[in-house]
Amino acid sequence: MMIHFVTKLQAFFTLLIIILLCTSIYITINNTKAADKRDLDNTVEKTYLLKKELEDAAVRIMELEQKLESLESRVPRKYAEVTFLNYLKKKRILITGGAGFVGSHLVDTLMLQGHEVIVADNFFTGLARRVNATILIASTSEVYGDPDKHPQEESYWGHVNPIGPRACYDEGKRVSETLTYAYAKQENMQVRVARIFNTYGPRMHMNDGRVVSNFILQALQDHEITVYGYGNQTRSFQYVSDLVDGLMALMESNYTLPVNIGNPVEHTINEFATIIKELVGGNSEIKHVAQVEDDPQRRRPDISRAKKFLNWEPKVSLNIGLHKTVNYFKKELKLFKLVHWNSPRDAL
Ligand code: UDP
Repeated sequence: MMIHFVTKLQAFFTLLIIILLCTSIYITINNTKAADKRDLDNTVEKTYLLKKELEDAAVRIMELEQKLESLESRVPRKYAEVTFLNYLKKKRILITGGAGFVGSHLVDTLMLQGHEVIVADNFFTGLARRVNATILIASTSEVYGDPDKHPQEESYWGHVNPIGPRACYDEGKRVSETLTYAYAKQENMQVRVARIFNTYGPRMHMNDGRVVSNFILQALQDHEITVYGYGNQTRSFQYVSDLVDGLMALMESNYTLPVNIGNPVEHTINEFATIIKELVGGNSEIKHVAQVEDDPQRRRPDISRAKKFLNWEPKVSLNIGLHKTVNYFKKELKLFKLVHWNSPRDAL
């Protein structure tokens, strides 16, 4: 009986110890959790305060910057020091496009170095786009060079000597077409490109050296008519009013690819010399002189495109056009002789 009671007591105490142990573990865990929560609350609060402080500081910095700006605007502007160059070292430099991005920086540098800088800028970039202009480029049959395709249609890429005596003009015009189409594509702009063939008429310059003015002036003064080379090379001449009509029609159209504007009636230069001689009368002789380098041998426009898309074709015959031009040069020559009455021949 006694033994049984002791065993029960032992079991009771063992159970009590286990209960006490569990309770203490539970309390410890709960305490840890509470401490963790407090820490977290503290961190959130600290972060919030720090953020607020930063925001306040940013506002303060902004205010100070504004104040500084307004103070600076009151102080007279100080310009960069410009080096003094004497007249031996100082250059006068022309910068085309000097108002642009790179150009303006170049201007800054050169001016700081003490040079005199002149800027020529047509503010082309953006101007046409801003006013939504349609651009007309006066190109030329010279883009076909000395053509190996006859007559010349616009899809022909040409045959140009890139380093010959005509290259500056020919390649210059070719690149102007290139730039035009690149610009049109980039800026989504409207462009018109006229490839103008040999044109003549009143107000051609007397000294311009073109075959029409040369031959007429030579014939009018009974001088020799100078045919360069054998005179088998051909040209097709259009009267100036036809050209103007063609350009107007092109601008009124919505056709964006290049268009030949010329008269397809073709003559050899020998024939042309005879035509002028007969028209003007007088006693001039036709003389063959040295040929010119890279002279295109055949030139005649294919004007199907202009006919189709512009509903344009030349109207003035060579005979009528030349009559008007001869009359014009007669008057010009009189005027010229009045002014240079001593030696009109030398002056021409
Ligand atoms: N030409 C000529 N005698 C002259 C001027 C020109 O025989 O006094 C020829 C020239 O060699 C060319 C043609 O006439 O074959 C047309 O020349 P222009 O300079 O008028 O025009 P482009 O050659 O530019 O077409």
